Amino acid sequence: MRCREAAEQAGAFVDAEVSGRVRWRIRLHLATCRNCRRFVRQIALTRDALGRLPPPPLDAAREDELVAALREASR
Ligand SMILES: [Zn+2]
Repeated sequence: MRCREAAEQAGAFVDAEVSGRVRWRIRLHLATCRNCRRFVRQIALTRDALGRLPPPPLDAAREDELVAALREASR
């Protein structure tokens, strides 16, 4: 596997969305390539940070919609 391919798969790799075979090949590449290791780590850190952010605030229109739907459901 080359850096280009590893970079393309890095996101899926971090999200554990690659097949076992591809995963193994990426691991093998990472073992020999410092740049890609750093790249994958960056993605992992970014994903981690994103996962910790609070959910985006509801805008007013969406909130009204949600309240209406809840009223409807509790009827
Ligand atoms: Zn590489």
